[in-house]
Amino acid sequence: MSLRARLGLVLAGVLVGPVVAAVLVLTLLAPASADRVQDAALTRSQAAITAVLTDRCGALEREAVGLAARLSGQAGLDVQVARAALSAASGGRGSAGSPGRDPDGSVPSGVKLSVWVGDTLVAGSTPDHLTESLPVGSACATPPAESLAGPPALLVHTVAVVDVTGRSVGLVAAVQELTDEELARLRTRLAIPDSVALLAPGGRAGAGDPAEGKADWWVLGLAGPEPQGLDLGAVLEAAASSPGGTSGHVRYLLATPPGLPFALLVFAPREGGGPGAPAMVLLLVCAAAMAAALTVLAGRLTRPITVLTDTARRLGEGDLQARSRVRGDHEIGLLGTTVDAMADRLEATIAELEHHRDALADTFTHVGEALANTHNLDALLRAVAEAARRGGDAAVATVLLGDATGLAERVSVAGDGEDAGWLAAVLGRLGELATRAADTGQECTADLSPVAGGALAVPMRRGPRLQGVLAVARRTGALDATARDAVRAVGVHAGVAVANVHEHADAQRMSITDALTGAANLRHLTATLAHEVERAHRFGRTLSVLMLDLDHFKQVNDTLGHAFGDVVLREFAQRLRRCLREVDLVARRGGEEFAVVLPETGTTGAEAVARRVLARVRADPFSDGGDPAQTMPVTVSIGIATYPEHGGSAADVLHAADLALYAAKRAGRDRWSVAQSPAESDDPDLSGRVRPSSSRPRVPKAR
Ligand code: GH3
Ligand code: MG
Ligand code: MG
Repeated sequence: MSLRARLGLVLAGVLVGPVVAAVLVLTLLAPASADRVQDAALTRSQAAITAVLTDRCGALEREAVGLAARLSGQAGLDVQVARAALSAASGGRGSAGSPGRDPDGSVPSGVKLSVWVGDTLVAGSTPDHLTESLPVGSACATPPAESLAGPPALLVHTVAVVDVTGRSVGLVAAVQELTDEELARLRTRLAIPDSVALLAPGGRAGAGDPAEGKADWWVLGLAGPEPQGLDLGAVLEAAASSPGGTSGHVRYLLATPPGLPFALLVFAPREGGGPGAPAMVLLLVCAAAMAAALTVLAGRLTRPITVLTDTARRLGEGDLQARSRVRGDHEIGLLGTTVDAMADRLEATIAELEHHRDALADTFTHVGEALANTHNLDALLRAVAEAARRGGDAAVATVLLGDATGLAERVSVAGDGEDAGWLAAVLGRLGELATRAADTGQECTADLSPVAGGALAVPMRRGPRLQGVLAVARRTGALDATARDAVRAVGVHAGVAVANVHEHADAQRMSITDALTGAANLRHLTATLAHEVERAHRFGRTLSVLMLDLDHFKQVNDTLGHAFGDVVLREFAQRLRRCLREVDLVARRGGEEFAVVLPETGTTGAEAVARRVLARVRADPFSDGGDPAQTMPVTVSIGIATYPEHGGSAADVLHAADLALYAAKRAGRDRWSVAQSPAESDDPDLSGRVRPSSSRPRVPKAR
């Protein structure tokens, strides 16, 4: 269940609950309680009326018995005596506390005494409508229906008059007429606010069962005003099934008091019957309005929380733009402000992390390039500089190689669109910073403002040995810790990588170089010649090979020692190199034998080279630079072969040159010899070529 629904329920419980309770109390409990109170009042009224009427019955009996006693015991019933006795009895009644007197003062108010002989009234009076004679000895009773001609609101008590023999000679009747006035007086005296109906069972005065139905009932009289809207028939019908309760708007109580000849129905307009329909409707409308207001209130109260919850959910799902915008100086407002501030920081942090991640990815890319360029120093340094520039979020990066004795700028990189003049100025400042780092062997920082921002120079080392310095500069602003760490990391790896490139280059050079003379070794000669022959073949060009062998070198060793021989070999290689172009290759085949590859050179050109070499070797005796006596003249013999004239492959050309050298040796040394074309050769190894030595004119005399 949502918070809003819960809060709504709580508010409804707190505010609507009492309203509902009030409605329940008013509609259920209050009426019941009011009914009980009213029923108690009705019971009291009923008891009071019963007491009064019982008292009346007693009075009637006394009056009738007293009068009958005075008239009895005579010879007969003397009418005159009866009238006198009646007059006397009425005087005694005045002291008996009767409720009042008739205007003639003879009988109590509402009580009529009469003396009867047979059906004849001989003294006193009766209500007009009591037309027939009454039964002897009837106790306090209503007259039988057949003896009544009017409203039967009467109580009658009769007593027989007997003579001396005990024979009945007459009848004394005492009648209490319950007139409307008498009933009203009763009500007033007893302060009974309710209406009272006296009900006699029809045709059976003095007894009867109310449950037998209203048709058997007469209404003797009504004390008090008739309640508005009274339907006595409906009340009687209800009373038939229940002696007390509510009928219509009337609360009633029915009882048959013992000793009374009729039933008593006490009723009154119902009190406290709960609020009326309009009041109930108003109450319900109020409750509905309150519920609606509470719904709106709950919505207002819970909306910020709903928004906050939604914002937190969106942030959790990765929507970093989500903000609650809930504000206020209350707790929820402060929570909204805090959540939004957290979201701001989260977004900024993630943006920064993404920027660093991208920079790191760039750095890795360039480090990867650097690793791929371990044999290409320039490409390596460019990748290193670019990695440092991006990792340090810098505008410029430069790599200078060297050590404390001197640095030389090798590679510089800058961001797109950097001004050349500005770049030159910044590189100048970075060069100074790098020199300081190389001198001190320590990382150096500088603020290049106003030209640029923060700058950093880190030494690149492998082990203790400085390889160079890596330096970066920002356009504006300082280099933060993350940027410095990135540049340092690149610098550390770059130092090792640069040293590795140098080492690799050295190893490669040594693998193709003869250690004694610095010339290429046989392996390199073979590879280079194969490459050059292939190239010449592809482009239809020519190349020549010189095969050189020092003359009588054994004697040099024998005469001046092996070490001197080594000096001669080194010196010879140097003199040879000085006779050649940059593109020509000098190689030592082994011992005192050398070879020269002359790309793009025909036989004539090769002969010119050979001539130069012979002259230069002859020119000065060889010396070890020490004892002047330790010098020795040396000569060399040279064989020349040209591709494609003297061989169609590298091996053939070399072999042809070998044969030519052999020819030069045989011809007397200190000279060159040109190989014969295959058609001229009779050398079986040359597959039908003629022996080169046979071509004497092609071995010119050197001196
Ligand atoms: P030729 O004119 O016929 O070539 O005679 P030669 O003495 O030069 O030829 P030979 O093959 O008889 O002798 C070559 C000598 O070169 C033998 C060897 O001791 C010497 N030698 C070979 N390699 C080296 C080296 O590396 N250092 C020195 N000092 N001598 C070497
Ligand atoms: Mg030799
Ligand atoms: Mg030799």
